[in-house]
Amino acid sequence: NQPLHELDPDVAAAVDAELNRQQSTLEMIASENFAPVAVMEAQGSVLTNKYAEGYPGRRYYGGCEHVDVVERIAIERIKELFGAEHANVQPHSGAQANAAAMFALLKPGDTIMGLNLAHGGHLTHGMKINFSGKLYNVVAYHVDDATGQVDMAEVEKLAKESRPKLIVAGWSAYPRQLDFAAFRRIADEVGAYLMVDMAHFAGLVAAGLHPNPVPHAHVVTTTTHKTLGGPRGGVILSTADLAKKINSAVFPGQQGGPLEHVIAAKAVSFKVAASEEFKERQRRTLEGARILAERLMRDDVTSAGVSVLSGGTDVHLVLVDLRHSELDGQQAEDRLHEVGITVNRNAVPNDPRPPMVTSGLRIGTPALATRGFGAEDFAEVADIIAEALKPAYDAESLKARVSALADKHPLYAGLK
Ligand code: PLP
Repeated sequence: NQPLHELDPDVAAAVDAELNRQQSTLEMIASENFAPVAVMEAQGSVLTNKYAEGYPGRRYYGGCEHVDVVERIAIERIKELFGAEHANVQPHSGAQANAAAMFALLKPGDTIMGLNLAHGGHLTHGMKINFSGKLYNVVAYHVDDATGQVDMAEVEKLAKESRPKLIVAGWSAYPRQLDFAAFRRIADEVGAYLMVDMAHFAGLVAAGLHPNPVPHAHVVTTTTHKTLGGPRGGVILSTADLAKKINSAVFPGQQGGPLEHVIAAKAVSFKVAASEEFKERQRRTLEGARILAERLMRDDVTSAGVSVLSGGTDVHLVLVDLRHSELDGQQAEDRLHEVGITVNRNAVPNDPRPPMVTSGLRIGTPALATRGFGAEDFAEVADIIAEALKPAYDAESLKARVSALADKHPLYAGLK
């Protein structure tokens, strides 16, 4: 029963350093967040020891009476949060949720449609060397060059031509809302299932600040660690008639024992997501992204060749277009890292640079909103980013401004 620092100082030192990194820098990776201490406590609990293959009340192992309670709570809470008929809370990650949902609905060789990776889709929506691209015949749709928004006319045309079995609506890097009703109409016209992957915007949906895909889709998948703010993991929601297929695709189809400690942490985060505090935090998340987009579209920034894809944002992230900037995505990411802001470079549609370099940045506000940032703080962060992306920048003064913001909003103050 030795504590980590005694048993394994090497790992403990890396964990401490990571805590310090999170506390002293500004986290703006759009897919990241800070889980509440109670969520981490549940995830670090003795539930990690328990095997529980199967589902509550129907397990293949003894001694599951307490993890059954936990998993039932998680299921009921997330059904309530999104108004879903069925929930499976066992997928270990978002990618595994998507794999299981596809295994439930498709056979290898079937046709699927998803948003092209370089246009904002996820690997699991049909990328060539992902399972989705290898197992299924993929027809990708795109964003419109002029508007930067998903081209629904193209979606309809491709669906009618290719008659997919499944249409995936969802994204990893897209600054606008999708029209779920239009996707469903097209899916119905061609006899396809509609699967919405709301991994990125689930927290906004839970707060009532983004349209809910659940009433429109046959299946909705999500991660639990992005805007939703919980532990790393995945969830599948579906209509009641698909419940059996979904459950057996997760277990025994794809996974063995569920991570009941993570499911406990998911349950805690779903409770948090139903609170007023959470709604208020999601409001600040959206406000922050709007402020960031506005400030990166001012003349002094655009004259440095920096622009904002689609001319703004309706969600928790901004996509910065650097095709006309001196900086490529890698250089811009490095500059922000140098001043203490963490973002990720991101391909823009029709990116002239290779995927490891890119011509864009994806900048998100969920983690800073969780940290307590309000409108004034987001304006300051936006101005720091704008300065850092100009040809001449003063790294030292920008670092000092980042530190002042980090000090103003302490993170995990109770942890060492
Ligand atoms: N779906 C979308 C839309 C995502 O953006 C991501 C993660 O980036 C995933 C699924 C996969 O989640 P995970 O990394 O938990 O496998």
